[in-house]
Amino acid sequence: MKPPPFDYVAPRTLDEALRALTGDAKVLAGGQSLIPLLNMRLAAPARLVDINRLAALDTVETTAEGVRIGALARHARVARDPGAAAAQPLIRQALGHVAHPAVRNRGTVVGSLAHADPAAELPAVLAVLGGTVEAASAGGRRTIPAAGLFTGPLETCLRPDEMAVSAFFPALPRRTGTAFAETARRHGDYALAGVAAVVTLDEDLRVTSARAGYLSVAATPVVLDLTEAAAPAARTGGWAAAGARARELLDPDGDVHATAAYRRHLAGVLTERALRAAADDALRREE
Ligand code: FAD
Repeated sequence: MKPPPFDYVAPRTLDEALRALTGDAKVLAGGQSLIPLLNMRLAAPARLVDINRLAALDTVETTAEGVRIGALARHARVARDPGAAAAQPLIRQALGHVAHPAVRNRGTVVGSLAHADPAAELPAVLAVLGGTVEAASAGGRRTIPAAGLFTGPLETCLRPDEMAVSAFFPALPRRTGTAFAETARRHGDYALAGVAAVVTLDEDLRVTSARAGYLSVAATPVVLDLTEAAAPAARTGGWAAAGARARELLDPDGDVHATAAYRRHLAGVLTERALRAAADDALRREE
């Protein structure tokens, strides 16, 4: 299918791009989600503002505080970045599950957050880490916490005249490990359910925090604090209670790909698996 007609601009500066974002305009980043939507005529913006010439947004910056990813940094580039992987390994762990190499060579991390697909990996990662998105418009800038960013399926609180210019993923505290687990029918497909897990241990290797961020179980990413249920776990294993608690708390819908009951079951199994792997990761980092 062919897209409906639209105006196309490819600005060379961020200011020009922001000025072009008026009326019924949409940012075009990697195009891996937007172009199919246009071709299927599920979206019909009057203007596309192509940001691919804004080289200043092709950045991955790592500091002691965390990893800031610019709007033009593609999935593949971010996944290869050793500094980002050291400071915040969950990004690379999740990116291994995003689509296929061809898509990862074009698609952007920030575009995935702005697109807000409930089945996408990176929104769940940003949510469980308590990250932020920096939004810019001709009128100024604001920082949006992940907890307020995702408002519905394919919906965020970004205004039509705003561009997400970067996303910030906080670094891991000490004795903290991460893991990502999902189930998809084929590798690279959108997941039936997925979990991004972050576990922190104390000096005696007891769990002081166990958090899980979910994709494909609700219209937006869901974050659960499973610390209490995970308390008996750590070195000895025993993550089943946390998986059971997740099954109790989550209320996924069924669809053509999986029934609600199957999704709930999967979420519990994946919770157990991801929390255990995150605790092992925390132990490894401590050695
Ligand atoms: P685009 O397609 O350019 O834009 C998507 C939407 O976000 C548009 O509405 C656009 O206006 C908006 N947007 C983009 N950037 C900005 C910005 N900086 N500020 C404001 N709005 C912006 N994704 C997954 O997470 N997991 C998968 O398993 C997965 N599988 C895929 C399989 C296939 C075959 C394909 C084609 C895509 C798949 N994707 C998957 C989507 C892919 O990760 C996309 O790259 C991503 O969702 C969107 O990034 P993009 O840069 O391509 O954005």
